Amino acid sequence: MQRVKKIAIIGLGLIGSSIAHAVRRVNFAAEIAGHDASADVLARAQVLGFCDSLHADAKDAVDGADVVILSTPVGAYKAIAQVIAPQLKPDAIVSDVGSVKSAVIRDVGPFMPKGVHFIPAHPIAGTEFSGPEAGFASLFDGRWTILTPVRGSDPQAVERLKAFWQALGSQVDVMNAAHHDLVLAITSHLPHLIAYNIVGTAHDLEKVTEGEVIKYSASGFRDFTRIAASDPTMWRDVFLNNRDAVLEVLGRFNEDLSQLQRAVRNGDGKTLFDWFTRTRAIRRAIVDIGQDVPSFGRLPFQVYIPPAKKRGKKKKNAAKKKKPAPRKTKAKAKRRRR
Ligand code: NAP
Repeated sequence: MQRVKKIAIIGLGLIGSSIAHAVRRVNFAAEIAGHDASADVLARAQVLGFCDSLHADAKDAVDGADVVILSTPVGAYKAIAQVIAPQLKPDAIVSDVGSVKSAVIRDVGPFMPKGVHFIPAHPIAGTEFSGPEAGFASLFDGRWTILTPVRGSDPQAVERLKAFWQALGSQVDVMNAAHHDLVLAITSHLPHLIAYNIVGTAHDLEKVTEGEVIKYSASGFRDFTRIAASDPTMWRDVFLNNRDAVLEVLGRFNEDLSQLQRAVRNGDGKTLFDWFTRTRAIRRAIVDIGQDVPSFGRLPFQVYIPPAKKRGKKKKNAAKKKKPAPRKTKAKAKRRRR
């Protein structure tokens, strides 16, 4: 990774502040400049101290920056691109973290001056929390970041951005924007839509009170409420900007749901059992490749860890003085909540 003089981060919420923390952790830049449209967020960022300079005007933040990362909701990108374009230094890399990619290329690409390297990106990392206090340096550790270079992207600039994300702890993949949008529609956008829907439906049920929904919420529903607590602005923008891919996977989802509905109505236990067996294997594969923990996203204190002897350990091992379990850091606990 090549250290740079200045990185500018536009939007200082969960992802923007996490990038700042991670950049500082690896000393990637001599200066971390930050901008946010909200004076309140700028004041909080000042107190938190993860930027070296804070700017009320995006133009000032990007002035002389070697790397610029847009980390606002994607609906704001076009206006920001228009504002910062005249101030960008030749050879600068302009990238982003948006959860959709084709719309970002459509909105930002036309404003990028010749000589500036525009390379969209998406770190597949986050929590249901937002704002500058939510960020932490290890957010990207071991997670994937997808780069979606545009036609004519300079391969060396792509390599530089790849090295940047790797230095921040991420693994990196490269794919085209349309493919990214389809993959994320099924792995992220549709699950959020379903969560928003199921929590809304439960809340609307006339014969079940809000109190009962909260009091008797089983773990499955609780996991949905966690996802449905995600930032409304960010997710509104995701659905407005990945409409085709989301509608495509939603159509398939509805067909499959009808099949399950039929199996329930017909008492078709074989179909249900086979289906659930297949999906359980998918969950295991995700845990096996280290993209989640076997806690099913619950807080560490909710995870039942069987005692050693029940796990079949020999008696003499069990008698040995046990090392205390390592304390879980706040960051680890947050990652587990995903
Ligand atoms: P966030 O915590 O809400 O932070 C976004 C920040 O951008 C807020 O401080 C917001 O200020 C500010 N902002 C809004 N409009 C702006 C503008 N025009 N100019 C400058 N600042 C502006 O959201 P986030 O979770 O960090 O998400 C940021 C981006 O990361 C989104 O594009 C999202 O798709 C992507 N992403 C999110 C996740 C996730 O899990 N959250 C994961 C991967 C990628 P106000 O609060 O005052 O509006």
